[in-house]
Amino acid sequence: MAEPKEIPLMEKIVSLCKRRGFIYQSSEIYGGINGFWDYGPLGAELKRNVKELWWNTMTRQRDDVVGLEATIIMSPQIWKASGHVETFADLMVECPITNKRYRADQIEPQSGVVYHYSGAIEDKVKYDAWVTELKGRGERPAFAHQDEAVHPFSVLVQKGKPPESARKVASEYYSKSLFLMRFPILQGERAEPIENTTSYSPDSGAQLSEARPFNLMFKTYVGPVEDKDSVAYLRPETAQAIFAQFKNVLETSRQKVPFGIGQIGKAFRNEVTPRNFTFRSREFEQMELEFFIKPDEVVEAIESFKSSVSSVQPETSELKTGNSKLETPQPDWGWEKWHAYWVEERMKFYEGIGLPRTTLVEYWQKPEELAHYARACVDILFKFPFSKRDEKGELMGEELEGVAARSDFDLSQHARCSGKPMGVFDEELRAAWGKLPKEKQDELWRRYFENRKKYLTKMGVEAEAASKQATEDANGLAKGQYIPHVIEPSAGVDRLTLALICNAYSEVTETDAKGKSETRVILKFHPRVAPIKVGVMPLLKNKPELVKKALEVRDLLRPWMNVFYDDAGSIGRRYARQDEAGTPFCMTIDFDTLGEKPELLDTVTLRYRDDGRQDRVKISELLPLLLEKIR
Ligand code: ATP
Repeated sequence: MAEPKEIPLMEKIVSLCKRRGFIYQSSEIYGGINGFWDYGPLGAELKRNVKELWWNTMTRQRDDVVGLEATIIMSPQIWKASGHVETFADLMVECPITNKRYRADQIEPQSGVVYHYSGAIEDKVKYDAWVTELKGRGERPAFAHQDEAVHPFSVLVQKGKPPESARKVASEYYSKSLFLMRFPILQGERAEPIENTTSYSPDSGAQLSEARPFNLMFKTYVGPVEDKDSVAYLRPETAQAIFAQFKNVLETSRQKVPFGIGQIGKAFRNEVTPRNFTFRSREFEQMELEFFIKPDEVVEAIESFKSSVSSVQPETSELKTGNSKLETPQPDWGWEKWHAYWVEERMKFYEGIGLPRTTLVEYWQKPEELAHYARACVDILFKFPFSKRDEKGELMGEELEGVAARSDFDLSQHARCSGKPMGVFDEELRAAWGKLPKEKQDELWRRYFENRKKYLTKMGVEAEAASKQATEDANGLAKGQYIPHVIEPSAGVDRLTLALICNAYSEVTETDAKGKSETRVILKFHPRVAPIKVGVMPLLKNKPELVKKALEVRDLLRPWMNVFYDDAGSIGRRYARQDEAGTPFCMTIDFDTLGEKPELLDTVTLRYRDDGRQDRVKISELLPLLLEKIR
């Protein structure tokens, strides 16, 4: 039953976004451009708040994360090393009638009757008549016609529909096909019922092309010459710049592993089927953290040494996962703990900006879903109104963020492809290693060697060379050298902005004294993300003393938060307008503010959006009160 309600909800949200200036279609006056969106005045504020909250939480509020702002266009070598040139592709199918492309895994199964054709022959009579007509106008056909098209083609028609529509599509196909037929007569029609097929175009019913990989990167050229040497790509993710600049940041920031580098910025993907409003766009923004950690063998070497000189024995299980004591990072954490820690940090972040846990899902990818280099990946999903439902009818959620444990894959790739070392030197490891018992050294050496060898072999290095390189890498441990591993929480700004709008959307129906009821929208944004924090309103706009006081209050608050001054219409209307924009607080400057009741001099009415509560607050207390709520 819930299903029919949800679709209109998304429609309402899309229309509210346009009406109130959150999100517009890009290039709308020219009919728009699919997969691109612009943010209007309220949307721009909301998005900016999202990014600032992420940046503050992930970098400024931590000692162990620093920021980066890299270029969108980088050396194409980066995308070769990362694998994007080779493998950043979705399997695509194409409709031969509309030329529309679809992601092969996103075609909904259809049932009906398939009409197969073995080929087509040209209708000679019609063709000759057409040529005569052309000649009469002094023209000639551009191409000589083909008599026969002898390859099969089929069309799906929904159950109960006549075969005419299949014939129309098939004729169009044969006319459009390489055979350049003008008037095809279809051959060998054969009908066959079919269930749940994904081989036909959802729009025309035409048989789809074979699935082919389609690279999602936007290509461009750098410099005046457009040739293969000047090809460059718009970055499809912000993460790779972080890996490429890892050494520079390490050397200039006085950070030591474990530490992270965060970046917010545009990313571009030529998505095959952009959809669900801004959820899948072709230009979007990401907020990515690469958090570099010591490989488990290094942590174990250091901790074994520490425990041998101390009377307190560490829990060896600390290297493993488990949700106990995840608040404060510990030096003895292995990758599983770090990974679980970041999943939890990110969940807390979402809660802290107003997405309750009940709206989120932690989806642990199954081993067969993981990228070959990933050891674990948790997708944090938000239950968007357009999400699929499970068998119980519950929304399953769509990805907001992925938190991946990517091993040392990325730095290793850049080290191999650039020829520049990406390892770090760790004095603690060097000192500890020499003091470890031989069996412990051997065990850790072997594990590190095996991991390195596995990676190198996977990347196509031949067995002997891989063993030689892995031996060199494992020998580095004794010298305090290793390649850091990474945990990557990677989130989308636009998806989060949309999730916040969907989550905030609510409606109230009010009935006035005359019995007329009206439904209006309230966007219940958390004050931290709300585009406008406070509406300041003089009771009457034609009373200069009220206006003067209201402007003073606006100027008092403005350096600290986004304030909207509004003196137009009734106070009720003004409140309603702010409710729809998601403004959590409004204040009215009235005659009591000016001292009509002396005990209320220099106070305002502070009205809360969510419950309509109204408090009388001293102007001198406004700033600390509001700051506490919006920070
Ligand atoms: P999906 O499976 O939905 O295509 P992904 O797993 O390819 O996403 P990642 O490569 O992990 O996504 O990118 C990290 C984040 O960037 C995603 O969690 C998402 O928030 C955001 N993102 C990725 N692609 C898009 C897009 N086309 N439009 C908007 N945001 C995106």
